[in-house]
Amino acid sequence: MNLQGRHALVTGGGRGIGRAVAAALSAAGAQVTVVGRTEKPLQEAAAAGHAQGWIVADVTQPEAMVDHMRVIETVRGPIDILVANAGGAVSAPFAETEPSQFREMFELNVMGVVHATQAVLGGMIERKSGRIVAIASIAGVRGYGYVSAYCTAKHAVVGLVRSLAVETAKTGVTVNAVCPGYTDTEMMREAVSNIVAKTGRSREQAEAAILKSTPMDRFIKPEEVAAAVLYLCSPVAAAVTGTTLMVAGGEN
Ligand code: NDP
Repeated sequence: MNLQGRHALVTGGGRGIGRAVAAALSAAGAQVTVVGRTEKPLQEAAAAGHAQGWIVADVTQPEAMVDHMRVIETVRGPIDILVANAGGAVSAPFAETEPSQFREMFELNVMGVVHATQAVLGGMIERKSGRIVAIASIAGVRGYGYVSAYCTAKHAVVGLVRSLAVETAKTGVTVNAVCPGYTDTEMMREAVSNIVAKTGRSREQAEAAILKSTPMDRFIKPEEVAAAVLYLCSPVAAAVTGTTLMVAGGEN
């Protein structure tokens, strides 16, 4: 998995899955730029050697993000690999989920991928080479209760990837989704805290309730998701496009 000479951009690369992806790509030799709204975790990822640069930007605000991307491309070269990972979830029964929350989930999880992809795709097509990986979710291919807005958005990400893969099939650019199951990150810890707050259960009980639906009976590690991303970004995956690679411990 040699990515020497490649420039990779990882949105949400300061923590969780994004940070593990940055670490894996960087270890394979890529120059990595991480993006997020908070500077400190991005600096920390760089200090740990997982990234060579960072952009403080909101993926839902394309103008600022793209300006920064153009600047960083003059320093590290054009972006060859995009990992559109930044995302987030809200949980509530459908009847209590505001239309504004559906729109927020769509803006972050779908338009965040769209904006970053539109900023890099033209250059990749010109160079006849590129890798785009969206971090969707197992919630992008099956239904879950109490997260309808998130599930809707993640299904849209999978639809976007499938469609774009057809459109770019002859260009040398591949477009894929990685669909993690419940992964041990800040986002997961927040989900557990929500269950605790809403049900009065202990953290252990809340985690056990989540794990009930997972055949392996454990959370996925961010590094396991990163390994799938690394594969899709590598030269050997040139014929893999439009796929949804599950890293979900047997959930399907
Ligand atoms: P975390 O909450 O740990 O990390 C999310 C990252 O995204 C942070 O670095 C955050 O940085 C960044 N981010 C969030 N919103 C924005 C924004 N508007 N603009 C730029 N950056 C943003 O989440 P995970 O690592 O768990 O999740 C990563 C991806 O994986 C998400 O798309 C999530 O939906 C998906 N996923 C996660 C699963 C899980 O169980 N953890 C399961 C399946 C999919 P900052 O706040 O500083 O901007």
